[in-house]
Amino acid sequence: MPFAQLDTQDREALDPARIAAVISAARTSLREDPGGALATAIRCHQRAATVGDATLRARALALQGHVALHRGDIRSGLTLALEAEGCLADGNGTLVAHAEVAGLRAQVSFFTGAYSDALGSAERAIEYADASGELALRIFARRTAFLVFGNISGRDLDRRLDELLDLTVAAGDVWEQALTYNDIACHREMGGDPQSARVAIDRAYALASMVRPNRFALAVIHSTRADIELAVGDAAAALRDAERSLALLAEGSSPNPYVLGASVRAQVEARMALGDYDDAQLAGESALSWLGERMPHTRSTILAAVAEALREAGRFEEAYDALWRSAQLERQAFAEITELQLSLERAVLQARLARSESDGLAAKNRELAEAHAQLEVRTAQLETLQEQLRDQAERDWLTGLHNRRFLARELARPSSHHTGQVSVAVVDLDHFKSVNDRYGHAVGDQVLIRAAELLATVLRASDLIVRSGGEEFLVLMPGTEANAAAAGCERIRRAVSEEPWEEIAPGLRLTTSVGLATAADGAADLEALVNLADQRLYAAKHAGRDCVVSA
Ligand code: GH3
Ligand code: MG
Ligand code: MG
Repeated sequence: MPFAQLDTQDREALDPARIAAVISAARTSLREDPGGALATAIRCHQRAATVGDATLRARALALQGHVALHRGDIRSGLTLALEAEGCLADGNGTLVAHAEVAGLRAQVSFFTGAYSDALGSAERAIEYADASGELALRIFARRTAFLVFGNISGRDLDRRLDELLDLTVAAGDVWEQALTYNDIACHREMGGDPQSARVAIDRAYALASMVRPNRFALAVIHSTRADIELAVGDAAAALRDAERSLALLAEGSSPNPYVLGASVRAQVEARMALGDYDDAQLAGESALSWLGERMPHTRSTILAAVAEALREAGRFEEAYDALWRSAQLERQAFAEITELQLSLERAVLQARLARSESDGLAAKNRELAEAHAQLEVRTAQLETLQEQLRDQAERDWLTGLHNRRFLARELARPSSHHTGQVSVAVVDLDHFKSVNDRYGHAVGDQVLIRAAELLATVLRASDLIVRSGGEEFLVLMPGTEANAAAAGCERIRRAVSEEPWEEIAPGLRLTTSVGLATAADGAADLEALVNLADQRLYAAKHAGRDCVVSA
């Protein structure tokens, strides 16, 4: 449409100075109104494209990117950052645009694990903003950079926080002042000074209560206060604050996942401290279903807190399940970040190529290859750790034998690995309760350890021994026909009855009963076979114990 045909309102909307002012206003309100800021950014991008203003396009894209990160969408944040940088590539851009784009780049790099780039970009954002002299931008650049400083380098943070506080006072921006007191409180709490953190957070709360809108600010402040209360041991107050934070976040359309994760973690910890283990688990699980597939890292943090709650309650199996899911999510998050990091590096490389900086290229390529190698090592370490975790969870801590969890997995497996006949024996110590009663539990435990060793000694390496219950063991003998299996069981029976148990406690004697079942086909229903062996164990007990029943 020719420019002359636009009505006055449209012409005003396409005025570059006007577009710039609209972007600046949306930037200031982005935390309390991300949806509105995004709509404005998209509109401004269209207008900037219409008038062919690359600098304004960069600013509008950067604003979209900041909203994306606020909502936890790192992938979009990265894409937008690269596009915005592209707009500024040919020497375009005002100090304002450079500050906004560098701020976005700092956070994207932080979330993708490129920490030195994150620190450099954060510093640059502040330098550009300071050079522009725009007070609101100087505050914005610092707020953006503090995510990086607060998480990577605590160095100089006190001075930087004081400086930011001065700027917010000079700007008369009460909302920013409130959030700065919140950051000060966080910093003091993490520095081990919950008392002075408390003073700062109360100040933050009072200031935030004075302005509207303040939902996000209050959600953040309640979340921080919950952590401070946990630190001083006031779990009930911490729970109230964490729940208030979550309620405020739930009112928004897409809650900030970092604040959400922190509040849920505080909620779970508070319930745990109050002894509400079930509710702690429930709280974590409901937050997980709320998050759905988003934010694997946040979900992993929540699950780890749930696992801790269950462990405290002595519910180890469920704790393990939660931990296992947490580790899987951690891995998913790690894979996503790795992928993003590589696309970021590739983009940087391409940009350099375009500018034909070929000398630095070889070095950069080497760096990339090195980063790849490191990532592979880390992935391998993570896998080993998971293997160890799984193995621990599938072993009995007393005897070191495999446990029921392992057996369940083994029985569920397609039994292609058992060829030919298969035998199952259930081995149960006789009158074991009286051992505990007469000699005490510690002796009982020693007997169990020794019995497990005996089984391992008399059986073949290919036989699978599981501690299936208190004083009951299950032996799976692949490729073993009935006679050979019966001979094996008889060896067990004799070994137990002939063992010098007096070495453990004077006068101690023990016998064992065994039920044995054999199937002609290795692919047989193992569970049914276990039941049959169990029935035969019962028969052995009835027959007077210290014997093997196999038919
Ligand atoms: P039976 O000959 O009929 O098998 O009698 P029993 O006494 O062996 O069987 P019962 O099932 O009545 O008792 C098993 C006992 O095993 C009860 C329990 O206290 C003990 N027990 C289970 N797990 C452990 C453990 O880890 N350590 C110790 N010391 N004792 C255990
Ligand atoms: Mg027994
Ligand atoms: Mg028993």
